[in-house]
Amino acid sequence: MRLVRIFIVALLFASTSLAQAQSKRIVIAASVVLDGKGQVLRNTRIVIQGSKIVAIDPKAEPVDYDLRGLTVLPGWIDSHVHLTWSFGPDGRNAGAGGTTQEAALGAASNAWVTLMAGFTTVQSLGSPQDIPLRDAIAKGQLPGPRILTAAQPLMGRGAETGTPEEIRAFVRAQKAAGADVIKIFAANSPRRPEPTLSQEQLNAACDEARKLGLRTLVHAYKDAVRLATNAGCTQIEHGPLASDADLKLMAQKGTWLDAQAGLVMENYLLNKDKFLGTPGFPEEAFPLIKEIIPIYHEFMKRALKIPGLKLVFGSDALAGSHGRNAEEFIDRVRDVGVEPMAAMVSANSLAAEAMGLSDQIGSIAPGLQADIIALDGDPLKDITAVRRVVFVMKGGVVYKNSAR
Ligand SMILES: [Zn+2]
Repeated sequence: MRLVRIFIVALLFASTSLAQAQSKRIVIAASVVLDGKGQVLRNTRIVIQGSKIVAIDPKAEPVDYDLRGLTVLPGWIDSHVHLTWSFGPDGRNAGAGGTTQEAALGAASNAWVTLMAGFTTVQSLGSPQDIPLRDAIAKGQLPGPRILTAAQPLMGRGAETGTPEEIRAFVRAQKAAGADVIKIFAANSPRRPEPTLSQEQLNAACDEARKLGLRTLVHAYKDAVRLATNAGCTQIEHGPLASDADLKLMAQKGTWLDAQAGLVMENYLLNKDKFLGTPGFPEEAFPLIKEIIPIYHEFMKRALKIPGLKLVFGSDALAGSHGRNAEEFIDRVRDVGVEPMAAMVSANSLAAEAMGLSDQIGSIAPGLQADIIALDGDPLKDITAVRRVVFVMKGGVVYKNSAR
């Protein structure tokens, strides 16, 4: 398992180790640094050598980037996006599985705008087309966030999904195809939340993944949340309609929660003309989508009250919301009452921990990747500052600098 982890990390950071060989030294001056773990550092300098942070030293010179007056923090991590999901050439929802040149360019564009919005790592869940995109970015052929992906998701379809042995074989096939994580659909929607996989099927999926050293992210609502938690799966995606007892069980078992506060649903409404009439989006879906937003709010409010429950940041960005991932922070703080610092940490050290990458990303500290962003404003006082990303560095390379 350890070897597997080392191999994945080696792949993820292959391009940055090339940059490191060139070993350029960069000093960033900052007046306010959120370290990604909930601490604020003031009037200091961050020293970068190659792709990594090597020191926090207020006396380091010469200064290459003066980010004083801004809020500096680790590049954000979005635990749930769909980079291959775009609007097509006709401007309408084209889904996430396209294989045309337009679809490929759309995915590359989505990766670019996501990076420009301050997200230096994302988990893109559920399309085999994520793999060539991930690899092109890792090789430095395209700009974009680091990508972890699930390749093909396991679609829960009751008995049709297969026997436990068939499910195990499916999980092994995703691993062989290059998946970093296994995505599982164990329910449909908040409107049809009934489990689509049995306890035995979920046990097989999550156990096989664990044996291969892969995490399991389970799309679940209501009772499926409990089944996935009992199966020892790593993380629940979405989760509404789960009971407090289910949430307590998650906290007790250390199961991560990746719930959403609104962006994903707001985006369907905002871009209704582009989704309407495409598969899964008949006219009658839109009033239901509107009704789901308060259900999501209520759920996250309850989740916040469960001691020890670990809530990571995942926007579920898809066509129309790529590059607007940070709106989810605003929803969390404004509509759900999440503390601004907790919102930031959920997309920094906490998200890194959920991915098993705490020693690589998610904090500003010596030894970690130089993934550093700066906001024009203070998100702790005004959460809309997350919209004003003026500096983006990933692995020691500056991709955006409109700070001055
Ligand atoms: Zn999703």
